[in-house]
Amino acid sequence: MENSKINKPKSSEELKSKPSLNFIELIIEEDLKNNKNEGRIHTRFPPEPNGYLHIGHAKSICLNFGLAQKYNGLCNLRFDDTNPVKEEVEYIDSIIEDIKWLGFDWEDRLFYASDYFDQLYEWAIKLIKNGKAYIDDQDVEAIGEQRGTPTKPGINSPYRNRSIEENLDLFKRMKNGDFADGEKILRAKIDMASPNMHLRDPAVYRIKHADHHRTGSKWCIYPMYDFAHGESDYIEKITHSICTLEFEVHRPLYDWFLDQIIEGNYRPRQIEFARLNLSYTIMSKRKLLELVEEKHVSGWDDPRLPTISGLRRRGYTPESIRNFSDRIGIAKRNNIIDVAMLEHSVREDLNKKALRRMAVLDPVKLVITNFPEDKTEYLEAVNNPEDENAGKRKVPFSKEIYIERSDFMEDPPRKFFRLSHGKEVRLRYAYIIKCENVIKNNDGEIIEIQCTYDPETKSGTGTTQRKVKGTIHYVSAKHAIKVEVRLYDRLFINENPDITEDGKDFKSNINPDSLKVIEGFVEPELKNAKPLEHFQFERQGYFCVDKDSTDNRLIFNRTVLLRDSWAKKNK
Ligand code: ATP
Ligand code: MG
Repeated sequence: MENSKINKPKSSEELKSKPSLNFIELIIEEDLKNNKNEGRIHTRFPPEPNGYLHIGHAKSICLNFGLAQKYNGLCNLRFDDTNPVKEEVEYIDSIIEDIKWLGFDWEDRLFYASDYFDQLYEWAIKLIKNGKAYIDDQDVEAIGEQRGTPTKPGINSPYRNRSIEENLDLFKRMKNGDFADGEKILRAKIDMASPNMHLRDPAVYRIKHADHHRTGSKWCIYPMYDFAHGESDYIEKITHSICTLEFEVHRPLYDWFLDQIIEGNYRPRQIEFARLNLSYTIMSKRKLLELVEEKHVSGWDDPRLPTISGLRRRGYTPESIRNFSDRIGIAKRNNIIDVAMLEHSVREDLNKKALRRMAVLDPVKLVITNFPEDKTEYLEAVNNPEDENAGKRKVPFSKEIYIERSDFMEDPPRKFFRLSHGKEVRLRYAYIIKCENVIKNNDGEIIEIQCTYDPETKSGTGTTQRKVKGTIHYVSAKHAIKVEVRLYDRLFINENPDITEDGKDFKSNINPDSLKVIEGFVEPELKNAKPLEHFQFERQGYFCVDKDSTDNRLIFNRTVLLRDSWAKKNK
């Protein structure tokens, strides 16, 4: 990475200040002013269906669809399906689902590069007829050896000056399946001495005897990305073809291919921006596939992955991802964004939306000795202090409750304001209790805390409004629902997982504690919670119901803690 400086979350002041135009918007506004392409703005998002989309793709989706929205233009979805070998229908379906979920709509403009194979073939013939392409009989190694280096010019292929007739004939035979994979290749005739390696007679069409998920066995030759991409942009009348920085050096080739076919005034323009990199995260599709195939994670939608389906399952909302994408802006140089910014975005969104509930994740029993045996009180609790419309609910309260083990300490430090011997604490929405005694098992582990409560201190209505320093949450034991809770942490221990000790690969940086599965208790209000519903478990974090939940067993995923605990850890 050029620049490994990590961008830390912005202060709320910085976040509120109105962003100025980014460099792509400046280009677009200039084009609009000049009425370039008749004032049309048309972008596209061009995924290759060889994996699931990740947060980096989400950035590109928000950018392309966002610009179209902002400038009253259009954005197409185009599958870049020119490589039949690595592409699968499962990926296409997931990509469609993910973009819709993010909240974007391509209307009737869903295209496939493979829709254009006939046209692309015609244009390849045009290249040959104009003396701009030739068939090379050499294999990939020989061609590679002749390419030279950035400082040393390449060598012309011995086949470079074949006659147009011979080239046309061989190309047709390539198409008809007369040759094996790699036996011949169609190359553009540009300049073997160009300082830009991409212009040294790049490949245009290669032979691949493989069925394609859309065109079946119709073709055994397939166009190369550089050729197919720009010409597809042209077919779709794209005005601004936005891609990531590594394609900057391909731009002269993009333009060269367009020059060979263009008629009239309309012309697409390629613009590059820095791809999104996130700390503690890998974004390469190949590496994500490796994690999935080698079962380091449960699948493409494992909540620890940066895939859109993983983030969705983890409890991220479309708004939180869109806000994040806006916030990080568009850069011209590669950088790494602190993953804490993504976590901040989901926290901020869920704070507004998530209903508050009480859940005890590491329970210890607490008995209120002076509370009537069979009595259940229903206490009024606020569903979301950030949202008046969220209303209220009733929380049951009885003699036996569970509290969080960490909310009690036998030998507390001075500033421990939770429960300890002889000390008082408030139970949320309920009463002040005082610890009188603890019962331990033979191993010295506390199995029961005994308290008394002060009936005069009921929240809101109590006659004595005594104040105590601490308030803790709980669930009534006999009303509690036992649930599975999956506590996720970052998948990698290293800010940049690609940096490893000598000879080890990125997987040596996997965090062995990235998933902890526990059983906890939640309040009965959660009984009918449905997959993907979000909640804040008070004092703990944001959680959502996992899709593996059944009527008999609720499973929650932890989306994010209430505060950034890694920032503290790293201090
Ligand atoms: P590869 O081409 O190596 O399989 P890719 O991540 O480039 O991987 P594509 O399906 O080609 O995958 O990407 C679709 C679009 O998303 C492209 O326009 C690409 O530039 C953009 N994109 C991919 N990764 C990122 C990223 N990390 N940040 C921003 N945009 C990205
Ligand atoms: Mg790509």
